[in-house]
Amino acid sequence: MLKLFLPSEYVKNVYQITPEILKERGVKGIITDLDNTLIEWDRPSATPELIRWLKEMQDNGIKVTVVSNNNEKRVKFFSDPLQIPFIPKARKPMGGAFRRALKEMKLQPEDVVVIGDQLLTDVLGGNRLGLYTILVIPVASSDGFMTRFNRKVERRIMNNFKRQGLIQWEE
Ligand SMILES: [Mg+2]
Repeated sequence: MLKLFLPSEYVKNVYQITPEILKERGVKGIITDLDNTLIEWDRPSATPELIRWLKEMQDNGIKVTVVSNNNEKRVKFFSDPLQIPFIPKARKPMGGAFRRALKEMKLQPEDVVVIGDQLLTDVLGGNRLGLYTILVIPVASSDGFMTRFNRKVERRIMNNFKRQGLIQWEE
């Protein structure tokens, strides 16, 4: 059961995920979380580094959709200047928003990776639909109110994975 929380892969940050690596795997699209995955939860807009990363994906024909549990105002303010499709109030780990993102990108589940910083929302949600999930270390060490509770549960699951040798995560 706990396996549903285990990411397919984990990396330090999104910048370790390159178009070359994705294309080699046949990946055509990214469903990504926003807060503490792409930027700090309390930073309103993309950093220059992130803008470059997103453009690189775009230039390589890899579609990106932001799927966030945060409100429309926040997600729209971030996504609109970048002209990236987004789904706010996604209610991850529920699958609805992921399915909608797949449909809007016109991609099959096997063509897409899910990137996120939370086991309880991003990884669980992606895994439940059989998507390839990539966990990143949260960009900021602080979290919004809702996430703080999730982190406590997450720490227990993470410790369990570490004990089993399933994850080696330097903190
Ligand atoms: Mg997040």
